[in-house]
Amino acid sequence: MAKIRVGVNGFGTIGKRVAAAVALQDDMELVGVTKTRPSYEAKSALAKGYGLFVPAENVQSFKDAGIEIKGTIDDMLKSVDIVVDCTPGNVGEEYKAKYQAAGVKAIFQGGEDHALTGISFNSTANYSESWGAQLSRVVSCNTTGLLRTLNPIDKKFKIKNAFVTIVRRAADPGDSKNGPINGLEPSVKLPTHHGPDVQSIMPWLNINTMAVKASTTLMHLHTVVLQLESEPTTEEILEIFKKAPRVRLVKSKDGIKTTAQIMELARDLGRDRSDMYEIVVWEDGVKVVGNTLYYYQAVHQESDVIPENIDCIRSMCKLEQDAAASQAKTNKSMGICH
Ligand code: NAD
Repeated sequence: MAKIRVGVNGFGTIGKRVAAAVALQDDMELVGVTKTRPSYEAKSALAKGYGLFVPAENVQSFKDAGIEIKGTIDDMLKSVDIVVDCTPGNVGEEYKAKYQAAGVKAIFQGGEDHALTGISFNSTANYSESWGAQLSRVVSCNTTGLLRTLNPIDKKFKIKNAFVTIVRRAADPGDSKNGPINGLEPSVKLPTHHGPDVQSIMPWLNINTMAVKASTTLMHLHTVVLQLESEPTTEEILEIFKKAPRVRLVKSKDGIKTTAQIMELARDLGRDRSDMYEIVVWEDGVKVVGNTLYYYQAVHQESDVIPENIDCIRSMCKLEQDAAASQAKTNKSMGICH
C-alpha cells in the first residue's frame, strides 16, 4: 500500500515534533515542512533532510540566506494527501480555504476553534469520529490530558460532575517572549474554555474548569475532583489508570515529587527532546472518599498531542480502523510504553 504523503505547515514547538513523528511511521511519508523566515529552525529542518517549503513572497529571502528550498507552500499542498497545520492559534483558520481548494485533508491544533472543523480528535475517546474526514482538530494539550483520564473513568464508573483546576505553565521553554512570570495569574473569565473543549468530544460530561498561570515552563498540572455515580475503591481507579492508553503512574515516594523530576525521568528514558508523551498521574495522590475521586496529573504541553496527531492521520486517511491498533503502532515507533 502506498504511503500517505504528509506535509507539516508551521515548524514550531508542535510542528517540529509532528514532523519527527511522521518521519518514524512506516505507513507515512514526510513530504516536507514550512518555514516563513530563513531562521536557524529552517536550517535545522534542512539538516534533518526535510523538504522545506516557504510562502511565495519570501522565496527570495531564503535564496539570499543561501537556504535551499523545495518550493512554495502551494507547491507542498500539490504533493501531499494531508497537511498537519501547526501554525499559531487562529492562524490555521486562514489556511482552511487553501487546503480545501488544494483538495487535501487537514488537521488543525487546539489553538483553533472546534467550529472550524466540526470534528475534534482524541485517540482514546473518539478515534472513529474522524474516520475518512477531510478536516479534524487535535484538541489542546490540557484537553488531551483530561480526556486521557476522564474518558476511561467515565466509561467504567460514570462521572456525575468533574471539577478541575489547571495550573498552567506560563510559557514553553524555548519561548522568550511570554515569561516566566513573577506571580500567579488566575484566569478570571470563568469557567475557563477547557471544560467546553472537553465537551467537544464528551458532550454529556458535566465539567467545570478554572486555571491559574504559574511561573514555570516545564509542564501543566491538573487537580481533579470527580463525583462518580458509584463508590469504587482507590485500587479500582488505579487499575483503570494502569490500562489507560498513554497514562503513566509515578510515585511521590520514589522521589518524583514535582514536574521537574518528571522531565528528568523523560531525559533518563532517552526520549527525543526529553518529551513525556504520557499523562503522568501520581499514584500515591489518587484517593477515593465515598463517591468522590481526587487525583493530580501532569501534562507535558509540548508533546502529549504528538502521538494523537499521528493517530488522527491514520483515522482520517483510513489507514487503520482500530484505535488500539493505531495507538500501539504509534507508541512502538515513538518509544511510548502503552
Ligand atoms: P509556535 O509558535 O511554537 O509555532 C508556530 C510556527 O508556525 C512557527 O514556526 C511560526 O514561524 C509558524 N508560522 C507563523 N505564521 C505562519 C504562517 N502564516 N504560515 C506558516 N507558518 C507560520 O506554536 P506552537 O506552540 O507549536 O502552537 C501551534 C498550535 O498548536 C497552536 O494551535 C497551539 O495552540 C497548539 N498547541 C500548542 C501547545 C504548546 O504548548 N506549545 C500544545 C498543544 C497545542
